[in-house]
Amino acid sequence: MAQSMCRSCGAKLEHTFVDLGMSPLANSYVKPEQLNRMEPFYPLHVYVCGKCLLVQLEQFSSPSDIFSDYAYCSSFSDSWLAHAKAYVDMITPRYSLHKHSRIVEIASNDGYLLQNFVARGIPVLGIEPAANVAEVAKGKGINTKVLFFGEKTALGLVGDGWSADLIIGNNVLAHVPDLNDFVKGLKLLLKPTGLVTMEFPHLLQLMEQNQFDTIYHEHFSYFSLLAVEQVFARHGMKVFDVEELPTHGGSLRIYAAHVEDVSKQVGRRAKELKSREQRAGYDRLDHYRSFSPKVEAAKRALLSFLISAKQEGKHVVGYGAPAKGNTLLNYCGVRTDLLDYTVDRSPHKQGQFLPGVHIPIYTPERIRQTKPDYVLILPWNLRDEVMQQMSYVREWGGQFVVPIPEVKAYSCYWRGFFLEPCA
Ligand SMILES: [Zn+2]
Repeated sequence: MAQSMCRSCGAKLEHTFVDLGMSPLANSYVKPEQLNRMEPFYPLHVYVCGKCLLVQLEQFSSPSDIFSDYAYCSSFSDSWLAHAKAYVDMITPRYSLHKHSRIVEIASNDGYLLQNFVARGIPVLGIEPAANVAEVAKGKGINTKVLFFGEKTALGLVGDGWSADLIIGNNVLAHVPDLNDFVKGLKLLLKPTGLVTMEFPHLLQLMEQNQFDTIYHEHFSYFSLLAVEQVFARHGMKVFDVEELPTHGGSLRIYAAHVEDVSKQVGRRAKELKSREQRAGYDRLDHYRSFSPKVEAAKRALLSFLISAKQEGKHVVGYGAPAKGNTLLNYCGVRTDLLDYTVDRSPHKQGQFLPGVHIPIYTPERIRQTKPDYVLILPWNLRDEVMQQMSYVREWGGQFVVPIPEVKAYSCYWRGFFLEPCA
């Protein structure tokens, strides 16, 4: 196989960050009639670039295979909707956005965020590669185009009068196969004093919280501030501010502008985080070698829990069918022998099976009917929300189990406080 090159700086990829083995595409849920067919598995092998230290997957598949019928609809998570609204409430006054501003969101999904600008009468354009999801947005009256973003798309948008005052990208930068083409597009689309904000999971949290299940094929790059800054600098842009957010287990929101834009100076928060990353070792290759042993230990811990539960005759089911659950269950080899079923609020996923491990996905109501002893929360980033929604599990003495950063069971959840973890 051809040697992969770094998708940021082009250096040869030679250093393994973690190797999670062969895994199916995390969003390729299996329909009942597909159960007896072959399923494609691809290596889930993550490298760290020896030169720019970008953590990344090697190239393995074309993006159109991945995104053409994407099942994820942002609006199914209450906390994510609240997060999007809070962002619009913050950014609109901070940059004086108004009815003549132009807001472009890349990977705008079902319009979960842009709908908040529409409500304020600010013109928006959503760019969404998945046609089925874009249709949902259009149905809600949100101006949306079905496109992949890059240099070519940006030139077309500028020609159509869509040079942007604000370009938003939430959980898209990490999913971009051609990183340099994407950032070049941002540079072209942005007005001279415009602003880009991008959110993505922070590599520092991934490593410190052992969030290896957030690694999946659709997620090509895993950024530190140090690594992302180099990509923007290569295209004449600077990261002048940064916020650390609790979303997706710990994300960064970066604020970028043209290097020439003197109205935006690099601020205290960006400087502080950069030096924190340097102190923690993110500017040295050695630091990245400490990750693999932690991942292997987490696998052994989850399997030990599931095996002992099974031996004690306990009934264990899952909650949620997120991409991260598919990485976790495939890497750990957990099938219906250890986890009877999972449930999900999204009707798009109900009635289907998790890729690879073929665990069935039901409606959450199933949990009330079967009264399991343990509910393994796969979207651990929504842990509090799930425990509140499902608090009736304690009526029959059921417990919640969270797999990451370490396997932990909770006997119940009451008024925002966890009572005694019990395993
Ligand atoms: Zn590199």
